[in-house]
Amino acid sequence: MSLGASLDQKWARICGKLKDEVGETAYRNWLKPLTLNGMRAGEVCIAVPTRFMRDWVESHYADRIRSLWSGEDPSVQSVEIVVAAGGVAASLVPPPSANDDEFPVIEPIAAPEPIAAALPLPTAAYAAPITDEDDVSAPLDPRFTFENFVVGKPNEFAHAAARRVADAAAVNFNPLFLYSGVGLGKTHLMHAIAWAIRRKDARRRVIYLSAEKFMYQFIRALRFKDTMAFKHQFRSVDVLMIDDVQFISGKDSTQEEFFHTFNALVDQNRQVIVSADKSPSDLEGMEERLRTRLGWGLVADIHPTTYELRLGILQSKAENVESKVPPRVLEFLAHKITSNVRELEGALNRIVAHAELVGRAITLESTQEVLYDLLRASDRRLSIDEIQKKVAEHYNIRLADMHSPRRARAVARPRQVAMYLAKQLTTRSLPEIGRKFGGRDHTTVIHAVRKVEELRQSDAAFAEDIELLRRMLEG
Ligand code: ADP
Ligand code: MG
Repeated sequence: MSLGASLDQKWARICGKLKDEVGETAYRNWLKPLTLNGMRAGEVCIAVPTRFMRDWVESHYADRIRSLWSGEDPSVQSVEIVVAAGGVAASLVPPPSANDDEFPVIEPIAAPEPIAAALPLPTAAYAAPITDEDDVSAPLDPRFTFENFVVGKPNEFAHAAARRVADAAAVNFNPLFLYSGVGLGKTHLMHAIAWAIRRKDARRRVIYLSAEKFMYQFIRALRFKDTMAFKHQFRSVDVLMIDDVQFISGKDSTQEEFFHTFNALVDQNRQVIVSADKSPSDLEGMEERLRTRLGWGLVADIHPTTYELRLGILQSKAENVESKVPPRVLEFLAHKITSNVRELEGALNRIVAHAELVGRAITLESTQEVLYDLLRASDRRLSIDEIQKKVAEHYNIRLADMHSPRRARAVARPRQVAMYLAKQLTTRSLPEIGRKFGGRDHTTVIHAVRKVEELRQSDAAFAEDIELLRRMLEG
């Protein structure tokens, strides 16, 4: 039908625009799985595979989708997003099973041996230590709660997934796989889930431990010929969390044991939560079947922090310390300490400790003094030349155009971006920056900084672009 075809074409054009606007990753995760169902009486119907996705798309992208639709086709009066069982499977979420369109449920991968038959009932000899989950579980950090977790763009998805696991009565996705670079909040989120579940129902057995500790316990069990007890204690929990699972890469028998434990728990519909420093498919030294299996549930990554998130985290931490930390100092730290949240916290703790020790108020000057070594290390890295080079590459212009007097938009805008980044990421003064850009005046640099700031506010795609560049430069 010609009408249908043209509707499809419109949808394809909308998808193309959305992809440009939100970026590759967000598009792949959230928008690509959308399917166009059709249009009836001015209402376009779009289907998503799960309710979780529908809520997410509804709150993050629906307005944009609606306005793109009305731009494409004035006869479209509304857009409805529905959950369709048997819809296109998202890469993130397992396909919904036929009788449950609300939560995806993983089918067991193999018919399990009934666990009770495989394992003897616990005998008095080891019943006592086994029922005490604190024996196995590592202690939980009381600060690592959801209340203390600051949510921003880079971690909102991982946070939403963690909350979902903590709040849901049934298992929605198994495992929840969290990954990110160091110091970005994986352990914090896992502890937060554990706290929340325990608070809600103290009877539920939640075990949290590092993969390293898991291995250590397994080896000890082997040594003491106590593997039955080992199996039992891990296979009788309601929620098992294994942190930093990359640690067991290349450790074959531990992996084997983990795989069996994992399957046993999933088969019994118990929640498994795993964290790592890479995505499942990038975990080298992991057996193929384990990698595949780890990617079956919900995979959520935490991105490097943005300035806004860093500032938010600092503000929230600063509220909990005795000393008053001026906003300027927080902004300064958020600009300068970009590696990860752990370092950011460390820097704040240092200036607070110093102020308390010497009994003086915290100022920008004292901060620069106290953090001299840290700041120098982050300054050293980047030169204006490097920034110009990266930005020129990124926008596909010649490096010479960074210095040239040409004012065509195609080169002027990238040049402004480079000036802006030079101001943000180095300690060079405005006149110094101006000189590096073909001997321009410092007022030109100020203008560039303002312009870019303005565009960042008004244009989400542009803002994301800048963030990407910043990350590449700082990485
Ligand atoms: P990872 O396990 O990813 O290496 P952690 O969970 O140990 O990182 O986080 C490092 C530190 O940063 C912790 O003290 C944690 O509380 C803090 N942190 C990380 N992300 C956030 C956040 N979004 N809000 C508040 N604190 C955070
Ligand atoms: Mg950790």
